[in-house]
Amino acid sequence: MTETNRLPLRSDVETQNTWDLSPLFADESAFQAAFKSAVEAIPVLADWRGQITKSAKNLLDYLVEKDRQALNIDALYSYAFQMSDQDTGNTRAQAMKDQALGLYTRFFSAISWESPEILTLTPEVLKNYYIEETGLENYRHFLEDTLRQKPHTLSAPEEEILSLSADMSYGPQTIFNIFNNADLHFPSIDDGSGNLVEITHGRFITLMESSNRQVRKDAFMGLYHTYESFKNTLAATYSANVKKELFFTKTRKYASTMEAHLDNHNIPTTVYTSLIDTVHEYLPAMYRYVELRKKLLNLDELHMYDVYTPIVHYDSPYIPFGKAKDMVLDGLVPLGQDYLDKLKEGFDNRWIDVYENQGKRSGAYSTCVYGTHPYVLLNYQGNLDNVFTLAHEMGHSLHSCYTNENQTYVNSNYNIFVAEIASTCNEYLLISHLLETSESKEEKAYLLNHLMDQFKGTLFRQTMFAEFEKITHEKEAAGEPLTCDVLCSIYKELNQLYFGENMVIDDEIAMEWARIPHFYSPFYVYQYATGISAAIAFGTKILAKEPGALENYKKFLSSGCSVDCMDLLKDCGVDMTTGEPVKAALKVFESAIDKLIEIF
Ligand SMILES: [Zn+2]
Repeated sequence: MTETNRLPLRSDVETQNTWDLSPLFADESAFQAAFKSAVEAIPVLADWRGQITKSAKNLLDYLVEKDRQALNIDALYSYAFQMSDQDTGNTRAQAMKDQALGLYTRFFSAISWESPEILTLTPEVLKNYYIEETGLENYRHFLEDTLRQKPHTLSAPEEEILSLSADMSYGPQTIFNIFNNADLHFPSIDDGSGNLVEITHGRFITLMESSNRQVRKDAFMGLYHTYESFKNTLAATYSANVKKELFFTKTRKYASTMEAHLDNHNIPTTVYTSLIDTVHEYLPAMYRYVELRKKLLNLDELHMYDVYTPIVHYDSPYIPFGKAKDMVLDGLVPLGQDYLDKLKEGFDNRWIDVYENQGKRSGAYSTCVYGTHPYVLLNYQGNLDNVFTLAHEMGHSLHSCYTNENQTYVNSNYNIFVAEIASTCNEYLLISHLLETSESKEEKAYLLNHLMDQFKGTLFRQTMFAEFEKITHEKEAAGEPLTCDVLCSIYKELNQLYFGENMVIDDEIAMEWARIPHFYSPFYVYQYATGISAAIAFGTKILAKEPGALENYKKFLSSGCSVDCMDLLKDCGVDMTTGEPVKAALKVFESAIDKLIEIF
């Protein structure tokens, strides 16, 4: 056995493979200078208290000043978080993050009276305001969305108290993230060729994709036994977050935490429950998939650590990052030259932080501050999955580009319900292209497997997560304590339901809930499932060259949050209130199973 394969220090990573944060701030002293002026500017906002409904001009002047300040804080927040994410062990970045979070708290506290005051405006008065000050037209959707939430907005002093609790309410999430990313260490295992490899968040899935079953099993056991040794702490952290959510649900007079979250974007809870129902309806397709997997892997028993390994033996070589970029460019040709140009601009100008280093945040994301280019954090390992992640995150980034070019700041923040559509559509276009151009039966089979894994991971798995959230939040609301045993048994039962009888549900999987960072943003993950459905609807139309499909898609990308997302999608040809896109996507899954069975 050789020495553990250690990750490089952040300072040793080549500059060209890191993101360039200088468009946000030249350096930390520029950050501190901007922070100082942001702090000094905030009291001006409080001076508008009691003034904004007195005239159209007051309302407009206030909103413009508020947006100016909010944009400055966005940049401070993003810079601090990105600095911290690239190296969570950097204590200065940690302090900057605290500064930025504190700034948001002060900002929201200074404007806590805003919604109650806007709510005193009647539709008639507002109608005249739009005529008096045409600049207010820009704020029409924002103002009308605020009025929509009237039944859930409290009095000014009550709102002030709630806004003061914001910092404190991040507690469970902050504790989980620091624990999970900085303090938690997993054992080293034999990588199958005699090398000791430390299990990390970034490496876990790669290890689980290994064709060597012992490696998969060791990684699986190593990771979950580590989580299990902290099970009570992690259950308490999870439960604290659910309690926090229930507090806000009750104070804002919502019937459930689910309703509270979905109402933010005016999404009916039936979209959530019908997603779960529709997926339940198609679980037999999942059971067929499990059976096929067991057969192709030639196993007597299919275990939870056999879920990620490709069922087709096709040795995909290491994909250098340069090649990954070319693959993404080729796959996204159907989106048109303007799309490809923007993509290339990002590839060539250090929008992306590519490789893993010590202390770097796990996973991948895209982030964007209005007025600057987007950023992508990756933990690139050179496998095909990572190429899809690149396509995915650049989908988010380009969605931001299109929106920012076409919308003002207040209408630029596209909401999370539509956020996963652009990213998933990219993945679907990429895999369709690769399936079409692949030359060998093996490669084709491998890609079909990958496509099915997409469905398994994005539609079935995220719906299972969504169901876990629904159950646990309902239990808390009913006064049932969320102990570790309760969480584990709910989680295990859901795995039994979703994978069916052909899968051995190992006890260790019951701890998986403990490692999902998204659970700290409740009722978020279902949007991956609705997102893939809408994405496949768009992608299918674009690939079929349906008249107007590409224009509709660009319109969707360019609209930001200038209209309600349900209306926008419907207007662009994808109606999510019908449940049909979910069914259509599940049918693509079924046909991928058929095609793979055909090959063998
Ligand atoms: Zn995403």
